[in-house]
Amino acid sequence: ASDPPEESPGQDRLSRFNTNVPHPARVYDAWLGGKDNYAADRAAAEAGLEAFPSTVKSVRANRAFLARTVEYLVAEAGIHQFLDVGTGLPSANNTHEVAQAILPESRIAYVDNDPIVLAHAQALLRGTESGATDYIDADLRDPGKILQEASRTLDFTRPVAVMLIAVLHFIPDDADPQQIVDTLMAAVPPGSHLVVSHTAKDIFPEEMAAFERAMNANTAEKVTLRDRDQVSGFFRGLDLIEPGVVQVPRWRPRSDLEASAPAVLWGGMARKP
Ligand code: SAH
Repeated sequence: ASDPPEESPGQDRLSRFNTNVPHPARVYDAWLGGKDNYAADRAAAEAGLEAFPSTVKSVRANRAFLARTVEYLVAEAGIHQFLDVGTGLPSANNTHEVAQAILPESRIAYVDNDPIVLAHAQALLRGTESGATDYIDADLRDPGKILQEASRTLDFTRPVAVMLIAVLHFIPDDADPQQIVDTLMAAVPPGSHLVVSHTAKDIFPEEMAAFERAMNANTAEKVTLRDRDQVSGFFRGLDLIEPGVVQVPRWRPRSDLEASAPAVLWGGMARKP
């Protein structure tokens, strides 16, 4: 038998580009009605919908939460730098679009570990001339790499919003998500903010247990659901902004209709003192 081929970064990238296995970004894209997904992703999206039929409404409510938090950060908290980990496939109201629509000088570093996300993001997520939009191929489990590469774009002596929107549930307990969050927040100065949304274990618990089983049956990245106390824990050492950790549609909704979506994610924002 011949020796196995030597490892190379190119091969690593290729092995990560496996369309026979559902990937979170593409499953999420399928729920949002996007076209950047494959049969395996659509089957997983369908299985999730069977377990929790309001999944699409929930995902849309999460996107709306993202947009409202970015708007608040730029317009009310004076933030113009964003570290957005778990970018997702380009959709409506991407972080840089919302931020740069209010302040064109806003600077965004996007981070994802899905090569398909990065390819699309580089092609489609173009920012303003006066601002900056950068893309980092990294895993949330490696915050040191994220911080190092983000320093190309972000000035870590000035406040940064760390956006962990619908991504921490892909970090299992044994990878110590709390330590990851603490490492990121230790690297940013006072006045920086943390935004988290996270799929819940304690909203529609029976449906969500079935959802978790369906999602984890045959996927590249397993989901870990967490309850409200666990999600609140990610904000330790920080000052929560009103209304605290709530179902994402209840976070500063613009209308009663927006507030009433059946969303299964906890979300909140806090400021580093
Ligand atoms: N933040 C966006 C997209 C959420 S989908 C939104 O809320 O609308 C989750 C994204 O996280 C996907 O793009 C997926 O590729 C990415 N992701 C999952 N696990 C990750 C990890 N360990 N490191 C970096 N990105 C990850």
